[in-house]
Amino acid sequence: MLEVKIWGGAGEYGRSCYYIKSGEIRILLDAGINKESGGVYPLLDTNELSKLDYVFLSHAHEDHSLALPLLYKYGYQGKVFTPKATSKLLPKYFSSWAEYIKKQKNSLPYEQANIEAIQFAYMEDYAFLGEWFQLNENLRVRWGRSGHMLGSIWIMLELNGEIVFYSGDYTSESTLIKVDNPYVLSHMNEKVKLAIIDAAYGMEDMSQEELFYQLKDRIEGALEKGGTILLPVPAVGRGQDLLFLLIEQFPRETFIVEREICASMMQSENQVYWLHQGKIESFRDELSQWITIVKDEQERKEALADKRPKIIFTTDGMMQSSQAQWYYNQLKDNEKNAVFLTGNQAKGSFGRELLKKRNNLPINVEFIRYKVHQGIKEVRQMIDSLQPAHTILCHANHIETNKVVAQLLAEGYKHIHSLLPNDQLKM
Ligand SMILES: [Zn+2]
Ligand SMILES: [Zn+2]
Repeated sequence: MLEVKIWGGAGEYGRSCYYIKSGEIRILLDAGINKESGGVYPLLDTNELSKLDYVFLSHAHEDHSLALPLLYKYGYQGKVFTPKATSKLLPKYFSSWAEYIKKQKNSLPYEQANIEAIQFAYMEDYAFLGEWFQLNENLRVRWGRSGHMLGSIWIMLELNGEIVFYSGDYTSESTLIKVDNPYVLSHMNEKVKLAIIDAAYGMEDMSQEELFYQLKDRIEGALEKGGTILLPVPAVGRGQDLLFLLIEQFPRETFIVEREICASMMQSENQVYWLHQGKIESFRDELSQWITIVKDEQERKEALADKRPKIIFTTDGMMQSSQAQWYYNQLKDNEKNAVFLTGNQAKGSFGRELLKKRNNLPINVEFIRYKVHQGIKEVRQMIDSLQPAHTILCHANHIETNKVVAQLLAEGYKHIHSLLPNDQLKM
């Protein structure tokens, strides 16, 4: 019998954490947090943590990784299986979260020693992309790139002969990041018992292309009026895609980019493994030719000194960072300028607050999605290809997930589940 417990991440956005048990094997997929109100942590069953055999980490984003130290605090002694690229990105996420919490005069539920206790095992040391590797006599594992960010993967497990697929955060629509189609790699005779699938965009069914042209049009409009555009993006993720696409579309414009956004793309080991060949070289050329990279207030001031229109890329995606708010303050009083938010805006975040009051602001603030997850169309494709006996949709709030489930059931799909934290499913 296969048993899954939702410790977080289904019926909500954030704190992805799925506990899976089959016979005597216990594993955990991700341990993230929800960054709202000082951090919401997964519903860990602390009695189970010392009994866990393996933890797998799909990627470095906060909503999948920042609760890892808690596992060690409460007794986990094993390894965290993840690609090398992900393990290298993590320290930055841990330190920015700690800084943010300190600034809010809140405290972390774990110590630095718990962070240092994390032991990594690199997926690529065990097996090539798409190949099964045997972790113990009852557990085989396989992985592939998930197209979501540098180092992001999907994971397939075979526990006592039953296959579980976890998409992690997944998209096949990235311009720069490679994706390995999980069904191309699997064999026809492999039956997936359970799939846990990224359905973050719920009922939304626009393609990346349609959304990007919308964004491009708005940017064009603002530039024509002589305005400057602010694009707040996560340090690693959709920012690199957007930067690449916009440089292609607007080769004559001035780009100002925060150093963090370029840094990870410039490491050659990352480029070969995670980025589409061919894009890499042109990205490097474009970067040196067209953009001004800045890292502190002095450089930002100099870059903004002349009044010509510009396209600015800053961290972070929800404008929580001091640099995002600094740029905003420089631009906010001019009605020609625009802020385009392209990803999820958590409750209480600076970006979300701006969207709420946008009608009363001189500057134009808009939300136009750039996709790094799946909507109903892509979820349907994934289910069609993998044909899982059971499917859990995750990464969106309960109401939205219910709508997707209702739609898919009406179309004749079976055993599609919309669950909540603390729910469990036995099959
Ligand atoms: Zn993510
Ligand atoms: Zn996520």
